[in-house]
Amino acid sequence: MPITYVPEPFRIKMVETIRLLTREERARKIREAHHNVFNLRAEDVYIDLLTDSGTSAMSAEQWSGVMRGDEAYAGARSYFRLLDTGRALFGYEYVQPVHQGRAAEKVLFPLLMGPGQVAISNMFFDTTRAHVELAGARALDCVVPEARDTRAQVPFKGNMDTTRLERLIAEHPGQVAAVVMTITNNSAGGQPVSLRNMRDTAEICRRHGLPLVIDAARFAENAYFIQQREAEYRDWSVRDIVREFFRYGDAFTMSAKKDALVNMGGLIGVKSDPALVQRVKGNTIAFEGFTSYGGLSGRDLEALATGLEEGLDETYLRYRTGQVAYLASILDEHGIPYQSPPGGHGLFIDAQAMLPHIPYTQFPGQALAVELYVEAGIRTCDIGSFMLGNDPDTGEQLRADFEFTRLAVPRRVYTQAHLDVMAGALIAIQARAAQVPGYRITWEPPVLRHFQAELEPVGVPHAAPLPG
Ligand SMILES: *Cc1c(COP(=O)(O)O)cnc(C)c1O
Repeated sequence: MPITYVPEPFRIKMVETIRLLTREERARKIREAHHNVFNLRAEDVYIDLLTDSGTSAMSAEQWSGVMRGDEAYAGARSYFRLLDTGRALFGYEYVQPVHQGRAAEKVLFPLLMGPGQVAISNMFFDTTRAHVELAGARALDCVVPEARDTRAQVPFKGNMDTTRLERLIAEHPGQVAAVVMTITNNSAGGQPVSLRNMRDTAEICRRHGLPLVIDAARFAENAYFIQQREAEYRDWSVRDIVREFFRYGDAFTMSAKKDALVNMGGLIGVKSDPALVQRVKGNTIAFEGFTSYGGLSGRDLEALATGLEEGLDETYLRYRTGQVAYLASILDEHGIPYQSPPGGHGLFIDAQAMLPHIPYTQFPGQALAVELYVEAGIRTCDIGSFMLGNDPDTGEQLRADFEFTRLAVPRRVYTQAHLDVMAGALIAIQARAAQVPGYRITWEPPVLRHFQAELEPVGVPHAAPLPG
């Protein structure tokens, strides 16, 4: 039996029409897109699960904030409202708006690290890794080993491996510039980090004099999982858990396009380091715009301040994480494997286990993404070897730790019936899994290839245009 769906704690006031093309049209569209879902037009997609980033539905409160936004160049009222909201939620002395998460990384990371240094994380998100490398440093992942076993039922699979962290610090004497804690651990499948693990990591950082930076895109979902899964905090409010968690960090970067429920925006937080605040302001002015808008409009700042609060509503978080858990419970009945327990922002299907005949060199995660579009007009993406790319030195295809197809669930956008369509499509594909072909790249750009590469099916002959 699927678990009970948690009813939406909102009603719908505005709708956006979506349409489902016929199966023949979908097969043609994905061929014309060279079997790369990024090349599809969004209007040809029925249910878009490409990402949960910037795809949230804003509330009536946020939209009315858009009208109230103060567009003054300097010292806008909307900026002070955001500053006050951020300070109160996180307990940090300074909060700097920027245009999105990677802008926060671009501003902050060169101030913390440089050539010859390393940064260590429970797992770097791809843009975060890129900005560590652009700053001249090297990025090392240090997640707990359980994260790599998709079937292991472990409550905090996103945790830092603290034993290995100590070892990495010892192996790089004087070279570690910063430690980054990503919440939730996106790349490991939206898996949370416990407060105990954050405390232990902070203690190691303090002992070695290292700054601890929180990559905070999904700070609210992480706090909700702590309340649900970490016995010590069962009676704490999500708000108090957030405050406690951030107490152990020294700074944070945040993509506000996730838990802060806006379509564009980001933040940098500095706990108590006036010199660092000054340097953050300096880089922001150079890269993003004056400190009181940071690459955003006044109306964006207003929607962001409201979104930070709404994202912490526990009734909403129960519904939100409940959607993903509901979808997972249907897949359980059919033995469809995913990174378990279900994560916060989506379900990461173990495409390698579902399509064991497709080798990593033929991209099982990508193959399943193509099938989901053909089957039901659902757009997802590969989080596996196709995304990882080639070794920059040898040009050889790298092998990813996971071959996932990610179903990222936008916030407050889809209903239970849409989730049933997702489950139905996966069940139908599972029944014909042996006929699903692998893919070969026919053209690729030199960097971040998965956004643009062109592919064609190989191996098992494609069961070309599938019957209706
Ligand atoms: C999305 C994301 C980022 C980058 O944010 P953008 O707003 O897309 O630039 C950084 N870290 C994590 C964990 C993310 O999920």
